[in-house]
Amino acid sequence: MSDPTHPSEPAAADRTDPARTRPPRPERRDVDSLVLVSTGDGKGKSTAAFGTVLRAVARDWRVLVVQFMKSGRWHVGEEAVCRRLGVEWWTIGDGFTWESDDLDRSAAIAREAWRAAAEALASGEWQLVVLDEVTYPMTYGWVDADEVLATIRDRAPGTYVYCTGRNASDALVELADTVSEVRKVKHAYATGVRARRGIDY
Ligand code: ATP
Ligand code: MG
Repeated sequence: MSDPTHPSEPAAADRTDPARTRPPRPERRDVDSLVLVSTGDGKGKSTAAFGTVLRAVARDWRVLVVQFMKSGRWHVGEEAVCRRLGVEWWTIGDGFTWESDDLDRSAAIAREAWRAAAEALASGEWQLVVLDEVTYPMTYGWVDADEVLATIRDRAPGTYVYCTGRNASDALVELADTVSEVRKVKHAYATGVRARRGIDY
């Protein structure tokens, strides 16, 4: 019988049981920060980033959220709560592209958001910077994707970066330490249900 005080150490007889086999644990490595990416076509990318913001706030980290695509007019619930928690929140984008009647303006605003984000990444002032929906301006060519990657790579020490958005490029995936893909299995939107307060924003 296995020792209940060491539940992760299976008894010798159990070691062949695949359910009890632990994944290999690589040699320990210390890093001062990480790059995380949440991508894919399912719901949950920004939600995952904001869940991480909660954890960072719990540790009294200085946290900045830059929203690249959300309208300044559309104040999402998480913005209000995060501000109350002392999170810095920059909403510089002017809405999703298919809502925008002036793509040039959207591109200019995304570039402005990126300029501010780039300064923040270099400043060393933040322990967590969330670049929410940053993949879209990269994909659309509104910002120089190579410059974004280099700026993230060369960020100030101790600055964790959390990027969200569909279609994260291979280069961003390569640069990141942790990448999760949220796959859509179903979404209520497909059956005509519109975005819901408290769940979607
Ligand atoms: P969330 O902010 O809920 O975590 P997300 O960041 O994964 O969503 P976005 O592409 O940023 O996804 O879209 C934000 C909004 O679009 C949310 O209201 C979300 O419910 C909705 N949404 C996400 N995925 C889908 C989908 N596959 N079909 C329709 N609507 C979606
Ligand atoms: Mg999102």
